[in-house]
Amino acid sequence: MPPKKEKYDCIVVGSGPGGAPFAWKLASQGMSVLILEAGPRYNPLKDYALNQQDWETKGFPYKTRIKNTFGKQQILNPQYSQLKSWNKAKGDLNRTKRRHYHKYQQVSGVGGTTLHYQGEAHRLNESAFRMKTLYGELVDWPIDYETLEPYYSQVEEIIGVAGPDKIPNHPRSKPYPLKPHKLSYASQLIQQACEKQNLKLDPNPVAILSELYRDAPPCNYCNGCVWGCPRKDKGSVDVTFIPIAEDTGNCEILTYAYASRIETVNTQGKKKVSGVSYYDRSGKEHFIKSDYVTVACGAVETPRLLLNSDINQNDLVGQNFMETNFYEVIAFHPDRLDSYRGIPMDSILWEWNNPNPERGFPGGLRLSPTAGSAMGPINYAMRYFEGWGDDLVKGMDEWFGHAMGMAGIAEFFPNKDTFVTLDPKVKDDYGLPVAQIQSFLGEPELKSLEFMEKTSKEILKASGANDIVETASTYDFFAATHVFGTCRMGNDPETSVVDSSLRFHSMPNLFVTDASVFPTSGGGESPSLTIEALSLRAADLFLNDLKKG
Ligand SMILES: Cc1cc2nc3c(=O)[nH]c(=O)nc-3n(C[C@H](O)[C@H](O)[C@H](O)COP(=O)(O)OP(=O)(O)OC[C@H]3O[C@@H](n4cnc5c(N)ncnc54)[C@H](O)[C@@H]3O)c2cc1C
Ligand code: SF4
Repeated sequence: MPPKKEKYDCIVVGSGPGGAPFAWKLASQGMSVLILEAGPRYNPLKDYALNQQDWETKGFPYKTRIKNTFGKQQILNPQYSQLKSWNKAKGDLNRTKRRHYHKYQQVSGVGGTTLHYQGEAHRLNESAFRMKTLYGELVDWPIDYETLEPYYSQVEEIIGVAGPDKIPNHPRSKPYPLKPHKLSYASQLIQQACEKQNLKLDPNPVAILSELYRDAPPCNYCNGCVWGCPRKDKGSVDVTFIPIAEDTGNCEILTYAYASRIETVNTQGKKKVSGVSYYDRSGKEHFIKSDYVTVACGAVETPRLLLNSDINQNDLVGQNFMETNFYEVIAFHPDRLDSYRGIPMDSILWEWNNPNPERGFPGGLRLSPTAGSAMGPINYAMRYFEGWGDDLVKGMDEWFGHAMGMAGIAEFFPNKDTFVTLDPKVKDDYGLPVAQIQSFLGEPELKSLEFMEKTSKEILKASGANDIVETASTYDFFAATHVFGTCRMGNDPETSVVDSSLRFHSMPNLFVTDASVFPTSGGGESPSLTIEALSLRAADLFLNDLKKG
């Protein structure tokens, strides 16, 4: 379907948590908005496998046509080899001496990667916004927690977040709209073990319905959020911001519309955005005019689109990339826990969320109980048992449902070897250079991985789970569930790409509103709620500016 108009007030490229809130806010105030989305619309009932017999082997149904390559591989530091990814059935998963690049897990479709996400809905802790001032590390954000607080609350209402009354270092002006989820049996055992060590395991704030909300039923605790939720219980963008944006009557969405270039014109010696060129499903290229453009393609595709459009800011576009600094361990408990039931990460330890250089690494982190991949019999059989036949049957009989795990995410420090650039050789189906990701870990990441490894294993042991069957970490595999930073937000155009209202420093009718703008990654919090809050705030400031003329 071609767009209905020749020109829009604003074109938003990308319909994930960065793009959709901005589109909704503008459309709700009468502006005409066109969203260009490279992927399709997913149908929760037909596309997701959780209500099908072969759900376990199917995974999330990726339908992307976006490709990327990877740059140099880091040589692994053997001093940290206890961090390697391993399982009982296969042994070491990376037997080389180099860090392996696993794919960039972006979903291309209306709602973006939230279709695949686990629903964690975290605010960043207060200190994460002020790393330079408080700890002399990294940079400060150009805004503080207080500025973002009303937008956090608004997003929580829209997507339906279930959470506890209080979280340390995350003050709130309103209670969460939904009551917290109860902890699974496995998490309760971990909670008891934590209490003995004076650690407080809190319910995790999640955009997963604990009550009837948004015309959707409460969650059925199938634990399969990453497969895509067929019941619309998870607050992914396709069932939250997109419907309200379309209800305004002012927001149009073009699917399979792959933006190839942000077009610009020179007026009175100044470069200005004039619209966007895109390829439709048949491969035909079109140009649509607009007064304003917002790029929200995620922290890898946003710099790629800008660089392919010859748009840069002091060569900073693509720099300061941050990936996910992740550690997970799974062990068997003597009791049958049925840990595959529940929500993916029902609880969280905020104990180390505040940055603290005295720990030996400056950034914050969080830890959570998890069932990891121990979801169904196929995963158990493939990961946890050596051998076949009777041995396998015996093992499954004895241990199925006994897995329990801990997983953590810690702050990532940008470094000069970690960036997104255009691949000099590889092009996509339309002849456009693809994004190339290169990511290296520094000492802060390795030290925090070591801390998460040690602490997670201690907690599991104290909970009664001694027999470790699996570890997974970013020591030997690149992970890209949470990626940030390639169009850093800041006050100084010499060191940042967009200002605090997410406008491009050198081009005021161009915005970037996705994860690319994060100056720092936070203390292991999941990012989507912050992306949505930033996007809403940028739209508000923009509308105020328009009102002022
Ligand atoms: C398995 C998994 C679990 C996760 N769990 C959580 C969680 O529990 N909580 C949380 O907060 N976060 C979670 N995340 C991370 C979260 O999903 C992302 O941080 C978030 O979706 C990023 O938002 P974004 O708007 O920057 O980009 P995206 O959500 O990736 O959206 C970008 C959109 O832009 C489109 N696009 C890209 N290029 C073009 C182009 N050229 N033209 C048109 N469209 C284009 C893409 O198709 C995509 O739809 C998880 C991620 C994964 C993979
Ligand atoms: S756990 Fe709940 S939110 Fe997640 S997929 Fe299952 S029903 Fe949906």
